Amino acid sequence: MTALLENDILLIIGIVVLAWSGFKWKALTFSGAIGTFIVGIFIALGFQGYGLLLIGLFFVTSSYWSKYNRKKKENMEDMHEKGSRRDMVQVLANGGVPALIGMMAYLFPAEYWIYGFVVSIAVANSDTWASEIGTLSRKQPFSILRLEKVEPGTSGAISSLGTLAAIAGSALIGIASFSLWEEINAITVFWIIILGVVGCFIDTILGATVQSAYRCKECGKLVEKKVHCHQPTILVKGVSFVNNDVVNISSILLASILMIILSLFVR
Ligand SMILES: [Zn+2]
Repeated sequence: MTALLENDILLIIGIVVLAWSGFKWKALTFSGAIGTFIVGIFIALGFQGYGLLLIGLFFVTSSYWSKYNRKKKENMEDMHEKGSRRDMVQVLANGGVPALIGMMAYLFPAEYWIYGFVVSIAVANSDTWASEIGTLSRKQPFSILRLEKVEPGTSGAISSLGTLAAIAGSALIGIASFSLWEEINAITVFWIIILGVVGCFIDTILGATVQSAYRCKECGKLVEKKVHCHQPTILVKGVSFVNNDVVNISSILLASILMIILSLFVR
């Protein structure tokens, strides 16, 4: 197994298969498949097959949840800027920080990159599970800041189902990392799970504050798009350039840096 996970040719084949099947299963657009390939290469440079297995776990489980019960969510589809197929920008929103850490680990080998890397995946997984599963909650969610009920799917909305999904998503990555790296012990797993969930909450808080939201002049819906019903929408909240992807990448980066700093103190 170790030899397989460290064989360069096999790793490249693995990355191509991952990107291609994502495209085939309609989890990725073509540009998303290219983005996946680039992210995969950087991760393989820093963490070989171990890193790829971890991000593959995120990729497969979150694609599964995105497809799961899609019918239930179909009416919400146009609330989000994009559909369920991820393009290059969305792939980089989740995979950009892991790829960057992979490159750093390759250029400046040190043990702490592993912890930052695992947390970056834990946040991405936690956040994706929380939003994909949380939107299926039958109870009306509430805003994390205003603590009042809001429309399902609104940025910054949380539900108990979504919170449980966030913890489960982070825990899966933490536990998987324990079996992949000797450097990761039970205490580290504990901190990975905590920081994965913390990152997910940072994402939610940024989503509720600085992330832009628009109102359609035509149908009156709150949307993430700049154009709706063929009409330009009005900015009602946040900063215009801060969309969901900017929020994702910021929360992943922040939690990963926190984990790297923490790993210097906690063993
Ligand atoms: Zn509209």
